[in-house]
Amino acid sequence: MQDNSSIGIYVHVPFCRGKCAYCGFYSVASPAWRGIYIRAISREIRERTAYLGGMEAATLYLGGGTPSALSPGELGAIIALLERQRPFARDAERTIEVNPEDISEENLDAWRSLGFNRLSVGVQSFSDNRLREINRRHTARQAIDGILLAAARGFSNISADLITGLPGQSDDEARRDLQQLTALPVSHASVYLLSIDPGTLFEVKARRGDLSLPDDDELTRRFTTAREALARAGFDHYEISNFARPGSRSRHNASYWRQRPYIGFGPSAHSYDGTSRQWNIAHVKRYAEALEENLPYFERELLSPADRYNEYVMTALRTSDGVSLHTLRGEHAPFFARALPAWERLLSTGILLREGDRLRATEEAWLISDAFLPDLFHEVAPQPPPPTAPE
Ligand code: SF4
Repeated sequence: MQDNSSIGIYVHVPFCRGKCAYCGFYSVASPAWRGIYIRAISREIRERTAYLGGMEAATLYLGGGTPSALSPGELGAIIALLERQRPFARDAERTIEVNPEDISEENLDAWRSLGFNRLSVGVQSFSDNRLREINRRHTARQAIDGILLAAARGFSNISADLITGLPGQSDDEARRDLQQLTALPVSHASVYLLSIDPGTLFEVKARRGDLSLPDDDELTRRFTTAREALARAGFDHYEISNFARPGSRSRHNASYWRQRPYIGFGPSAHSYDGTSRQWNIAHVKRYAEALEENLPYFERELLSPADRYNEYVMTALRTSDGVSLHTLRGEHAPFFARALPAWERLLSTGILLREGDRLRATEEAWLISDAFLPDLFHEVAPQPPPPTAPE
């Protein structure tokens, strides 16, 4: 069921000190553009008061890029404008993504005083060789010390990101990464199976045949190793890539999966108001120039009821909560009715399980969700081509 009582806020900070070999997110290395970015995003926040106007923010997430590459002064300027724009819930979850090389006593204290109560640390691997190969700019020691220091300085809600299936990584190394992770004071872990995204250095290498990638069996083994190790350490596997200790699920990400409205600021950031989605220009200078000249700085897509059904099914069936029958029979009734034979078939084969009002996919099935989800989707009719102007 869509919850429209509060929203999430996302801020995209596109600056990184280098490009990691696997990363397909929009980011730039040029610090010269920071001033342009701060002016432009300040303008966007000031101007977008009507979008989801007046609604309280339940979560704030600064992602990137590398938000910790901004100074406390730059971060403070953005936060002050956001807090002026709309009320924040007293218990709002406020996350900042940080890279290990930026963690210091001074920065931790500054992030806390800016209101951040959750850190998401980009660890990726605890092997220095692997970190060098993927062009990270920190060591395993820095990640370990950074997380310990963050906990000592009062952060009790720390998430760490790991990638499993990196080229050259053995099963043993992947297991050691998980052992190290679970020995640290983290309340949440995101473990991603490596994917080769377009436009990345890994994609170029893979095309040239210069990358030795794990096959599907190896990836399945890694996924199983990760969930077993994290389950033993008391983490609940609540979404295909996400694990949390009790009470520490990411509220911000969960709001995307529940189709709660959100507003995104900054280049490449997305927003969703319940019926349409929009996304900002993914280029700092072009985004800034468009805002400066009062030109459109985003594209917008109206979501049809069928789109909303498909998105609900696709995101919710990759979570342990699954979908609600009440919601399917209510707001998505015509599409659910048409796909009912496929739902029944997946239930009878054990890919889907029913628990009260919920239907959920088994954890094993999450890995093959691309294969069965399309059976449940409503095929969206192709749009007619736009009319062409007479010659
Ligand atoms: S993974 Fe993070 S630090 Fe690396 S290039 Fe991507 S956004 Fe930047």
